[in-house]
Amino acid sequence: MLSGSEKHLQIMGTQINYYFICKTKLWFFSHHIKMEQESDLVSMGKQLHQGTYQREKRDYTIDNLISIDFIKKGDLLEVHEVKKSKKMEKAHEYQLLYYLYYLNVVKGVQKLVGVINYPKMRQKMTLEWDGSREDEIRELTKEITSLIDGDLPKPIKTPACRKCAYYELCWV
Ligand code: SF4
Repeated sequence: MLSGSEKHLQIMGTQINYYFICKTKLWFFSHHIKMEQESDLVSMGKQLHQGTYQREKRDYTIDNLISIDFIKKGDLLEVHEVKKSKKMEKAHEYQLLYYLYYLNVVKGVQKLVGVINYPKMRQKMTLEWDGSREDEIRELTKEITSLIDGDLPKPIKTPACRKCAYYELCWV
């Protein structure tokens, strides 16, 4: 059992992503109300991965907290995520920054770089990791922990609601 001061070390990549999409969604997910498996978006995402990067070594799960789409090893260890569109760019960016943080700060892996791949758009975004954002990511994990420990945040209607698995819990 983790102490209160260590709970922020148990944040999942998905929770980082949801923090930037919707705090109500983050709270539902974190309280084990998990309906996302039924979402068409998730299965579309899986098909996208299967069809696009079959030659890469894929899907590394670490401590049941982070799940990396694939890695490449060169001078730097490249940590890759594959995304469908740039609609949730900030969520994607921070999820990957958290992976880099976790690998570096918690696991002691050095010389990292993150890459977000948008195969449908034939674009990539590279995120350097030099430790300068370590404090920012640590504070983010603490903020998420405190949000989860609080009451259910009031839902706010956004375009993301339309395809959200929790729609009925919020709006019906
Ligand atoms: S339906 Fe909308 S408000 Fe409710 S959890 Fe989903 S994204 Fe958030």
